[in-house]
Amino acid sequence: MPECVFCKIASKAIPASIVYETADVVAFKDLTPRAPFHVLVIPRTHVAKLSELEDEALGGKLLQAARTVAKNAGHADNFRLVVNNGDSAGQSVWHLHLHVLGGRQFTWPPG
Ligand code: AMP
Ligand code: ZN
Repeated sequence: MPECVFCKIASKAIPASIVYETADVVAFKDLTPRAPFHVLVIPRTHVAKLSELEDEALGGKLLQAARTVAKNAGHADNFRLVVNNGDSAGQSVWHLHLHVLGGRQFTWPPG
């Protein structure tokens, strides 16, 4: 899926502020941050959305990467993890991504 913007970031075809990467996942700063700390964690392989993720091990790696990037930024114990899955949840990029947000107080319920 060469037209996918997050696949292009993962392959470094287009630039991004990458903060963490492993063989399986890449984490980079969100272009439009919604909090002082806002990083997206993605799988290198193209998966359109969480509801299509069948690789349990990859799911675990994404979660571990989320806690690592939060910890590395000084937000080990206070961050919010968000996955927008599908149109009605507000998903706008169709490559699975975990939003890791920190550095401010969050409210509940989300909008
Ligand atoms: P969602 O609405 O959950 O699909 O989130 C998509 C996120 O991707 C938004 O927060 C965008 O700001 C972010 N985004 C889109 N394009 C880029 C990009 N090229 N680099 C970094 N973040 C991006
Ligand atoms: Zn992709």
